[in-house]
Amino acid sequence: MQIPPLSQIFLDEREFLVKRDDLIDPYLAGNKYRKLYTLLQTPNEKYTTIISYGGTQSNAMLAIAAMCRQKAWQFIYYTKELSRTQRENPSGNYENALKLGMDHREISNELYRDFIASLSVTLDEKTFLIDQGGAVVQAKNGLEVLADELREQLQEFPQVQALATPSGTGTTALFLAYAMPEYKVYTTPCIGDAAYLQEQMQALDALPDNLIILEPKKKYRFAKPYLEFYEIYKKLLGSGIEFDLLYAPSMWLTLLEQTHEKILYIHSGGVSGNISMLDRYRKFDKE
Ligand SMILES: *Cc1c(COP(=O)(O)O)cnc(C)c1O
Repeated sequence: MQIPPLSQIFLDEREFLVKRDDLIDPYLAGNKYRKLYTLLQTPNEKYTTIISYGGTQSNAMLAIAAMCRQKAWQFIYYTKELSRTQRENPSGNYENALKLGMDHREISNELYRDFIASLSVTLDEKTFLIDQGGAVVQAKNGLEVLADELREQLQEFPQVQALATPSGTGTTALFLAYAMPEYKVYTTPCIGDAAYLQEQMQALDALPDNLIILEPKKKYRFAKPYLEFYEIYKKLLGSGIEFDLLYAPSMWLTLLEQTHEKILYIHSGGVSGNISMLDRYRKFDKE
């Protein structure tokens, strides 16, 4: 793999650098590539099957499907029951993951919680379970590789004082902060609030001092369309880079509002999921 480059963009008269992890692969890109790095380096014979669970349009699901295709592993993915439209018209990440060979299994909504809890106790040694969103301690290695690349690339940009990446589970931001203690690492919670994010992170490891959680001014619900998200998405697109519509908008808005220094933003991928989100954003075009 070629080392993803840094791009420079201008936004509201500020200059930002962007680490182009979105360019790694159409499906297995961004922080999902970094988080799956250890598994990608594992010899194919070590496992026969990977199991995971979560949402039907998840970026992690698609990345795991692409990895399993490469490694010739069976991929079993559990979700709650599909809606009728999803079943009759598979689209976006779900459609692509099925094409990559994902074995999708629906669990009734009532049983889902208990079923997922039971997964970890029934594993054999040839099967690996990836928790929702790829929240695994093994993600640490992949983020150390990213940190080595950045250290090399940032020698040319001594003005950069901070890094930024949005959080779902917080796995990426936490391990990035550990791997680059000489920089501030900004993140923002995209699922739940700052307290919930801290709790998720603490389940993985203690929070380092250089990790800074910025709370957006307004409360956003995950995967809901907001006009200001669409606007910043289009503005970023206009400055030359497409970002995802679920996580990146709130991180960018928060950075513009609450920071002033020169920042390197780590593109966390997820652009493949935009097709299904953009359908829901069309309503703003009509207004
Ligand atoms: C998964 C994902 C995140 C969140 O990553 P965490 O490590 O779970 O915090 C952020 N941005 C994009 C585009 C993602 O796909």
